[in-house]
Amino acid sequence: MKTWQQLAEIQPRVIDILMRTLQKNRLAHAYLFEGSKGTGKKDVALQLAKSFFCESLEETEPCQQCLSCRRIEHGNHPDVHIIEPDGQSIKKQQIEHLQKEFAYRGVESIKKVYIVGDADKMTASAANSILKFLEEPNGTTLAVLMTEQGKNILPTIQSRSQLLSFAPLAREPFIQFLINEGISRTNAHLLASLTTSFDQVKDLVQEDWIAQARSVVIQLMEELYGRPSQLLFTIQEKWLGTFKDKAQQEIGLDMLLLWFRDLLFAKLGNLNTVSFIDQVDSLEKQALQSSQERLSRHMAAVLEAKKQLHANVNPQLVMEKLMLSIQEG
Ligand SMILES: [Zn+2]
Repeated sequence: MKTWQQLAEIQPRVIDILMRTLQKNRLAHAYLFEGSKGTGKKDVALQLAKSFFCESLEETEPCQQCLSCRRIEHGNHPDVHIIEPDGQSIKKQQIEHLQKEFAYRGVESIKKVYIVGDADKMTASAANSILKFLEEPNGTTLAVLMTEQGKNILPTIQSRSQLLSFAPLAREPFIQFLINEGISRTNAHLLASLTTSFDQVKDLVQEDWIAQARSVVIQLMEELYGRPSQLLFTIQEKWLGTFKDKAQQEIGLDMLLLWFRDLLFAKLGNLNTVSFIDQVDSLEKQALQSSQERLSRHMAAVLEAKKQLHANVNPQLVMEKLMLSIQEG
């Protein structure tokens, strides 16, 4: 959980607008939060819900202690609904289910908040159902629609909601923010290259997973450049044991991409922007073994591996093919 002030460090413009609106008690019925992944849209939406429901609000700041704040924090507030795509899209039934639930359960409070993730994935009929919400004349419903693709939102929805654009986080402020949160400098640099979402960072540092993942990537790259006969064993024993599900495997591939990007930086003598900040010696050594063109091909091969992973190719096979194509390419 964060305070409005902490969120303002990440999204100063958006928070400034919301603070002024909250002070005047003039929230719109519907907001459209547009911005790339990890720019804090959901954090801000939840904080807005807390300010909307908090039982002992101090000016605009929710207390984080009352039942409403705690329920929102734990995702079980009966009047705060979060809708996300069910498969590829948000379907009309999901919205209707919500409307029925609101009607059926009766009135816990007369206020309702609904937060829609990937709102661009609403089907046309789902969007129409949402519009019924947005047209409710009373001021007790707050909708926050979030999207990474504002242009894909139906004009009818756009015209009924207030657009707030979330700027991408600057890298350096985010690294500093992570260090302030107690994350090591080494991990903070890598994490800031992987995501700009503090929530995702929190997931990745659980049980020190990121440090373990990082060391597997470093080991794999050392073997690729020095002991390629070990590669298959390491993929089987270490890689698959660390990057267990698809989401983790995707992060693993992103980390490989970052390593190759670091090698490119090392080739260009641009070492102060690398993601693996404590690996400068290895990076410089390995950079000598590859041309820029080769490194670009390696990066293309990693992107291809990501595609295969998405297409549900067996992850061990994806990694083995990737290592082979990098050795050959
Ligand atoms: Zn509260």
